[in-house]
Formats: sequence, structure tokens, C-alpha cells
Amino acid sequence: MAVSRIEVPGSAAEVASAVASWQGQVAVGGGRYSMGGQIGVKGGLHLDMRRLNQLVWIRPEARTVRVQVGMRWRDLQDVLDPLGLAVKIMQSYSKFTVGGSVSVNCHGRYVGLGPIGHSVRSLQLVTADGSVLEVGPKQRPELFAAAIGGYGAVGVITEVELDVVPNVRIERRVRQVSLEGYADFFRQSVLADSTAVLHNADLLPPDFDAPVSVTWHRADDGKPLTEKSRLVPRGASYALEQNAIFVMTEVPGGTRLREKVVHPMLMRPPAVKWLNHEASLDAAELEPRTRAMSTYVLQEYFIPDLGFIPFARAMAALLRRRDVEVLNISIRHSPADRVSALPWARQEVFSFVLYYKQRTWRSAQERVGRWTRELIDLALEQGGRYYLPYQLHATASQFIRAYPEAEHLRRLKGAVDPQGKFSNELWRRYL
Ligand SMILES: Cc1cc2nc3c(=O)[nH]c(=O)nc-3n(C[C@H](O)[C@H](O)[C@H](O)COP(=O)(O)OP(=O)(O)OC[C@H]3O[C@@H](n4cnc5c(N)ncnc54)[C@H](O)[C@@H]3O)c2cc1C
Repeated sequence: MAVSRIEVPGSAAEVASAVASWQGQVAVGGGRYSMGGQIGVKGGLHLDMRRLNQLVWIRPEARTVRVQVGMRWRDLQDVLDPLGLAVKIMQSYSKFTVGGSVSVNCHGRYVGLGPIGHSVRSLQLVTADGSVLEVGPKQRPELFAAAIGGYGAVGVITEVELDVVPNVRIERRVRQVSLEGYADFFRQSVLADSTAVLHNADLLPPDFDAPVSVTWHRADDGKPLTEKSRLVPRGASYALEQNAIFVMTEVPGGTRLREKVVHPMLMRPPAVKWLNHEASLDAAELEPRTRAMSTYVLQEYFIPDLGFIPFARAMAALLRRRDVEVLNISIRHSPADRVSALPWARQEVFSFVLYYKQRTWRSAQERVGRWTRELIDLALEQGGRYYLPYQLHATASQFIRAYPEAEHLRRLKGAVDPQGKFSNELWRRYL
């Protein structure tokens, strides 16, 4: 998709002037990890926010930090770690920008915390007329709610003020659980346990019916670290991981090999490390060796408690029926979203993150579109939703069934951006 112009602003004033002086549409990009044109609009202006990447201030005693939006989590971790602090809510990988993460209202594996919006204290937002506004839960709350998880619909976020938490030692506990027993197990043994910090459960192909629960608990200070590095080093080589994924997806029997041998081998040994180490994983470990033939893609579905088993069973059957090359499905949990105008967690949800291999030729892409729409229908049947930073396979009617709040967002946008200046391929299609 060709844009007309790219600007790389170095200050909020430069963002404001670029927005106010441009007559056409404007789209915003952070780390550019979203997968469906969410950062660009055809013929429009693209604002590349990656130069706006400085710390504004940090107040360790108040457990707060304010940063420019182009800062990546890994850079913020370099600031926080020496102070004994950690990011409160972020994704599982550290290459994303703070602005992109807030704009999709990301979440991680943090037990009981939910979307990042719950840890945002305030934002600086540039609106379509070039105003630079401070917005928060008390100051212009509607704009605050629309900017968090708003995919750039109401303005350009330039600064974010976030809660931070103490960096703690964590230790891994792994358990095999039955699919039927998982939700109760999670509530009783993870959510109710105040030492549980991070949690997810892996479902492995081809059956996807035996969750392997991985919970990181706060460890005693005296417990020796099995991982001495405080942060994952930058620029490490992930050739081993990439080759392992290649074998497991290209060699006959590879998926069973993973289920029976590789996963237990990786998960069994004791592990004690710093939270900042586990939070600074590099998404490069997921990169394919080449994208000539195939690539790895993500999707995520958010399902209310009652729909957990019916969705899990129907999803597994669909993935087998359609021969989807799934590497794994990660289950997570989130309480209801208390902030975003466009919440993916309208109520408490379990989420299913699908990580799958996609061939790069057109017919393969169309095939992915077909099973994805079937999977979205399964989620909708259970009162669930799907996540928006990924490929845009949903139909317009699936989008509005999943996100009825979009009508409210559209009205709000109309009030602050009457010309529809802020857009991107996601909003061009669905809003
Ligand atoms: C390997 C991988 C792992 C992932 N894991 C997780 C996970 O664990 N949890 C999770 O929730 N998500 C996850 N995601 C999705 C990820 O959170 C989103 O793709 C996120 O947008 C990435 O941040 P980014 O900086 O690349 O944002 P971009 O892709 O650059 O932008 C995302 C959206 O935000 C808008 N935007 C960006 N910056 C601004 C700004 N300053 N002002 C206004 N709008 C802006 C863009 O216009 C776009 O619509 C994962 C993605 C990948 C590829």
C-alpha cells in the first residue's frame, strides 16, 4: 500500500504541525508489528513515531514513569531495571513501542491485571486540528478512553504516563491440567494465589486438549537464580529456535515430536529469574528463517467463561478439519476492561492466542481468510471477540457484532475529527 508522504517527527509540536498542515488522511506507526495495514492509509501521510523515544521523567517513589511513545519496552527496561522497577503490563515481547501498545490496548500474561489501559495514568494527545491535549481518567475522559485501544482513530498519542512495579525474582511452576478442569484450576491455584505473577497455558497440536499450565510465582529472595542475566541481551541469535520451529512444522511427525519430547524437555527444569528478564524476550526468536515460502502469524480470541469449553473444542475441530498449521495456542486470562471505549474484554475473558504458519502464496492466504472467518463466527457464538492488530479477514458485519461499541467510537471521532483525518486500513474498512 503506497502512502504519499512519511514524516518522522521529533517532538509533539512537530506532530501537531504535520497533522494540522496536511490536507489528506493521516496514519500513525510505532514498531509496525501489527499485521493488517493498521499503520498506513493509501495516499495519506504516515507519521513514523520511532524518533520520539525519550524518557520524559521517572518518579520511582511514586512508581510512575512518563515516556515518549516511540520508546520500545526494551529501552524502558534499561531505565527501570537499575532502579529495581519493572513495567506493570506489556506484551510477552519487548520490541513494541509504548504508543503502539497503548493504541491496541495490549495485554500480557500478568495475573489479574488485564489490558495495559489499566496501568495508564494519562496521555498527551495531538488531535486533528493540531491541539496538544493532556487526557486522563479525570481530564477529557472520553478522549482518554477512545485513545486507549483506539488504533489512532482520535489522534496521535505523543507521551504516556504509566504505573511501574517492583522487579521481583520469579520461579516457574509447570502443571498438566485437563481442559475441563482448567478454568477452575486457574481460579483456585493461580488467580487466588497472591504469589502468582505471570501465567499462560499451552495447547499443542494436533489435539489441543491438554493444557500445560506455566505460572511464574514470586520467589524468595534467597532462592538462587538459574538465569543470571537481568535482561535478555539485545541482538542475540535465535538460529536454534528458528531451526527447531522449522523442523517441527516441515518434517513429518514434527508436531508430535514437539508435544511428546520438546515441550516437556523445555519446561521441566527449575527456573528462577528476574521478572525483567522474562519480560524482555525478543520477538526475533519467532522470526522465520526466510519469508520466501511461509511466515508465522498470530490471531487472538477472547471468550467469556461460559464459552471456554465449547469454543476450545469447536476451535480444535475446525483447525484439524481445515489443516491449519498451528504451532501452539496460548491461553491467557483477563478481568473486564475498565477503561477502553473499544474493549476486547467487555467482561472477564479467557483468551486463545493462535500462532500458526501461513504459506505466502495468494491461494494460501485466501484459505486462511476462510477459516479465520469461521473461527470468528465460533467466537461470536460464545459471546466472544477477536483481536484487531492482526490480519483483516473479518467481514464488516463480524466486526460490528464483535465490537458494538464502535458506533460510540464513530460518534466520538466525529466530534474531534469531523473530516475523518485519522485513518488507516483497519478504520477505512470497519469504521
Ligand atoms: C510476535 C508478536 C507477539 C505479540 N504478542 C502480543 C501479546 O503478547 N499481547 C498483545 O496484546 N499483543 C501482542 N501482539 C500484538 C501487538 O501488541 C500489536 O501488534 C502492537 O500494535 C505492536 O506495537 P507496535 O509498536 O508495533 O504498534 P504498531 O503496529 O506500529 O501500531 C499499532 C496501532 O497503533 C496505532 N498507533 C501506533 N502508535 C500510535 C500513536 N503514537 N498514537 C496513536 N496511534 C498509534 C497505529 O496506527 C496502529 O493502528 C504481538 C504481535 C507480534 C507480532
